[in-house]
Amino acid sequence: KKLGIALVGLGSYAKNQLAVGLEQTPNCYLAGIVTGTPAKAEEWMKKYNIPKKNVYNYQTFDQIADNKDIDIVYVVLPNSMHHEYVIRAAKAGKHVMCEKPMANSVKDCQEMIKACKDAGVQLGIGYRMHFEPFTKEIIRMSREKVFGNVKFINSNFGFTIGDPTQWRLKKAMAGGGPLMDVGVYCVQGARYITGKEPLAVTAQFGPITDPTRFKDVEESLSWQFDFPDAVTVNGFTSYKTNIEQLFATYEQGFIHLSPAYSYGPIKGRTSQGELNLPIVHHQANMLEAIAREFQETKMFPAHISGEEGLKDMKYLTAIYEAAQTGKKISLV
Ligand code: NAD
Repeated sequence: KKLGIALVGLGSYAKNQLAVGLEQTPNCYLAGIVTGTPAKAEEWMKKYNIPKKNVYNYQTFDQIADNKDIDIVYVVLPNSMHHEYVIRAAKAGKHVMCEKPMANSVKDCQEMIKACKDAGVQLGIGYRMHFEPFTKEIIRMSREKVFGNVKFINSNFGFTIGDPTQWRLKKAMAGGGPLMDVGVYCVQGARYITGKEPLAVTAQFGPITDPTRFKDVEESLSWQFDFPDAVTVNGFTSYKTNIEQLFATYEQGFIHLSPAYSYGPIKGRTSQGELNLPIVHHQANMLEAIAREFQETKMFPAHISGEEGLKDMKYLTAIYEAAQTGKKISLV
């Protein structure tokens, strides 16, 4: 059976990426929507041929429990709302996909995991890079030690943020600044290259050059992870600098992805030359992989589980603590 997915929150990521991706997936489709805006509901029903019975608002959302067309609820709301909607979806007996960052606190992540476990539903975080061909290839090269052991990783993701009134600049909604939004990709990158967990972290906030935008959240942040086997990871994230790369140097070579994380084509090279791999639609590619895995095993892929989201949240929290205290924070 083709899996029916309901998107909760029809903002820019849902509209421009996930809904577009779901038009290209043989094993899953856009079956329903949850929106607080009636005009959006009309537009989406027409565009995607969604029956009225599969359209909910935030008040009627829990009735989704009775809708057999919906197998998976995909939460694409501002970060602070992930907790509530993942738990409501689980209580409605639906499998849940949740966007990154998983939530705004470790406690929220733990409650989301528990709610899904108690309800016997799957929980996945929208970590699309795990399905992306260049990323998969560098993970393979790292695991197979094509260039020997990894020694050092530099992982950066930043962009120039626009509208000063948006939720991404409000701590209560976003949980933090660029670290929560895009720095999480750098943390993930270090973890999937090494295949290990960090031992300790130090971190520093960058200067505020734009006090209008950065009243509430950091403008930029640098951090340093100690990983096992004396591997150092330098991370940097910013809402004022356009940068996107994942560089790793090994005993006998290097890999470099840039862009490394956004959905424009990923580009990469290693010390052996250019990487020539298929360019995919990230969201179609991820959703199709999840649908196929679920159809075969009744589970979501393990590397995007809620537990993985929780680990990242612990690391993000520790990075903030390290920057605030100036101390090295132990993670073990
Ligand atoms: P957005 O602002 O474009 O959309 C948010 C949606 O939530 C809007 O439709 C808005 O109407 C709705 N909403 C409901 N209640 C709201 C409230 N109280 N305040 C504000 N909005 C409210 O944001 P987005 O860029 O689509 O991001 C949504 C989520 O997706 C975030 O968690 C973000 O981190 C994640 N995201 C992931 C990727 C990725 O590549 N995986 C890319 C972009 C965004």
